[in-house]
Amino acid sequence: MKASRLLMPTLRQVPAEAEIASHQLMLRAGLMRKLASGIYSFLPLGLKAFKKVENIIREEMDNSGAQELIMSALLPSEIYIESGRWEVFGPEMFRLQDRGGRDFCLGPTHEEVFTTTVRNEIKSYKALPVTLYQIQTKYRDEIRPRFGVMRCREFVMKDAYSFDRNEEGLDQSYQAMRDAYCKIFDRCKLDYSIVQADSGAMGGSGSEEFMVKSDIGEATLAFCNDCGYAANDEKAQCKPVPEENNDPYYTMEKESTPDVKTIEDLEKFFNCKSSQFGKTLLYQADDQVVAVMVRGDRDVNETKLKNYLRCADLALADEETVVKATSAQVGFAGPVGLKVRLIVDLEIPEMKNFIIGANDTGYHYKNANFGRDFETKEIVDLRNITEGDACPVCGGKINIAQGIEVGHIFKLGTKYSEALNCRFLDENGKEQPVIMGSYGIGVGRTLASIIEQNHDENGIVWPVSVAPYHVIIVTVNNADEQQMALSEKIYKDLQAKGIEVLWDERNERPGVKFKDADLIGYPVRLTVGKKASEGIVEYKLRKEEHYTDMSVEDALAAAVAFVKGI
Ligand code: ATP
Ligand code: MG
Repeated sequence: MKASRLLMPTLRQVPAEAEIASHQLMLRAGLMRKLASGIYSFLPLGLKAFKKVENIIREEMDNSGAQELIMSALLPSEIYIESGRWEVFGPEMFRLQDRGGRDFCLGPTHEEVFTTTVRNEIKSYKALPVTLYQIQTKYRDEIRPRFGVMRCREFVMKDAYSFDRNEEGLDQSYQAMRDAYCKIFDRCKLDYSIVQADSGAMGGSGSEEFMVKSDIGEATLAFCNDCGYAANDEKAQCKPVPEENNDPYYTMEKESTPDVKTIEDLEKFFNCKSSQFGKTLLYQADDQVVAVMVRGDRDVNETKLKNYLRCADLALADEETVVKATSAQVGFAGPVGLKVRLIVDLEIPEMKNFIIGANDTGYHYKNANFGRDFETKEIVDLRNITEGDACPVCGGKINIAQGIEVGHIFKLGTKYSEALNCRFLDENGKEQPVIMGSYGIGVGRTLASIIEQNHDENGIVWPVSVAPYHVIIVTVNNADEQQMALSEKIYKDLQAKGIEVLWDERNERPGVKFKDADLIGYPVRLTVGKKASEGIVEYKLRKEEHYTDMSVEDALAAAVAFVKGI
């Protein structure tokens, strides 16, 4: 391809709307443009890189034995009503009606369609196991689209679904996908971790996420360097930290604490640390109100709470509900004499002589103790894990990092096959629900993550496997016939050798060409300048600082060897 013919609108300025490196670079390098919030168009260079990621995924899926097909993005409501997700998806689902008033959605994920397809087409154990996948566009009306294609509203996902006769089969299908994912992300040159993830309250026996560690990641992961444990913070189990305190158990006393409502107010008033408080929060869980207690410096993990309660909706209770349940204004809730169900975090029974709200406006209790002053049988792991916590496996020290979730693999079990009646006849002629798994990779998010991990101050530094072009030829002076002739020869030779090459023969100053080459980030740059008359060109790798003068033959050989990884 010749650069003069290519739509590659690079930008020198950092676009104000882009907060993170990959988003800025994808706009600046002319890979994509924004159409509306969370909606992007890929331009030629962006699409080329995108297709490379897609092809890596396709090859590894095919190698694993999965079969590609494609489903519509426009889906009838019936199947989602049948599975119960027409409600569950809520406002994240794009919904529309046809001219006859029938409801449709733009598929946010396709478990329902795949399950009903298998329900209709597979009757016998003989046709199982089978793993099907597609690389297809998904729609989600995300609350907060951000970071370019990292979190957008229209995005391409590779989604795969496995169908097995039994749990052992599922384990094998799951492992095959896990292995394929490792190969995919290795080939994309991503530095990633596999972490345990929440598999939800209903069904699902295991789930893992592929996380790319990055400060801009929206997911939080906990990991232990001693034993290798790694989990999403929604899932990471917390061990209670026993209090090292030899004080006797003092008598509980009520104290007047006017205008003291927040934990910060309490710290000042009592002159002690937030860890010496017991924080009571009221939640509305479907139609039930529950009180939840964690140490004052901890945060309630709402995923854990939701899973424990097995509820569909969970939110902090409104003021009116709090006032009714505690007979006090907001800020004074506590476990003593509370009239609603109480659930306490594992740490609460370990605490000694702590401060709690008194369910009386303007009052707190000090020296409260679990078991003596209040009680519940519901003692559950409810909090977010934090840096320095004990590893739930080996007791080592937990570290916390941010991560970008690029892939998710999930043992679904019979959740969808039961709901959608997807059954098969086993060897004994008995009907059984199909055992399922689902597996997703965001193609655009993977591409953006590659840029996030492979860039410098001048631009993208593409790994060869996903670079839009492998080699860029920069002709320094277009007016010089020798330079043009030699450039063209190199261009043709590289093409003949199967190298994807872009020739920058635009009528631009060399500085512009070099800047664009660095910004777009082709792995190899061959510069044809003054020494063209001697048959000498400059060879430079994008990831290295230095360049070398080489004979044309040597430069060609070096470029081919580098691209082919020889
Ligand atoms: P997140 O927690 O980031 O919202 P999710 O749990 O909703 O992700 P899944 O439903 O498991 O994601 O989707 C599978 C994959 O699809 C994700 O691992 C991610 O790579 C990609 N993905 C999900 N939502 C988006 C989005 N809004 N934009 C781009 N890619 C996405
Ligand atoms: Mg999501």
